[in-house]
Amino acid sequence: MSVPPASRRSGNTARVLILVGVILQFVEVAGILALAVLPGNHRFHGIFLLAVAAVGAVWGVLILLFSYRPTADGDYGSARTPTLIFGILSLVTLSILGGILYLIAYVKLGDALHEAAVTAGGGGSLASGTVYCPRCGGINPALGKFCQRCGAPLTPP
Ligand SMILES: [Zn+2]
Repeated sequence: MSVPPASRRSGNTARVLILVGVILQFVEVAGILALAVLPGNHRFHGIFLLAVAAVGAVWGVLILLFSYRPTADGDYGSARTPTLIFGILSLVTLSILGGILYLIAYVKLGDALHEAAVTAGGGGSLASGTVYCPRCGGINPALGKFCQRCGAPLTPP
């Protein structure tokens, strides 16, 4: 899927947010593992912490597979729902920072889809001061009256 660079901005932001969330997730897992093997720990607590760390690790892998990977591939539509679910689940399980990161990523994925739609639709105006020709899809300066490529009249932004 080839998307013009301008429409990938929000997608890239979402990708970075999800990546930071996953890194935080694995830092948490490492912290819990460290607590679990702490000397003098009650045995039951150690086993409980190991279980929590295992769940956290599985969760991190799931986010990588269903949220990060489609986002990196530019498949924002597929990444959106899993990112929302991970965001809500993170908040519920008190991973507040990760939850907030995923929820912002979810909003950014929505922006990315919108940008991609504007770009693909043709005739849409872009933030960078250019417009797409409604006939041939050529990129023109926003102030131009006619397409530089095919001569079709341009709608002012
Ligand atoms: Zn044109």
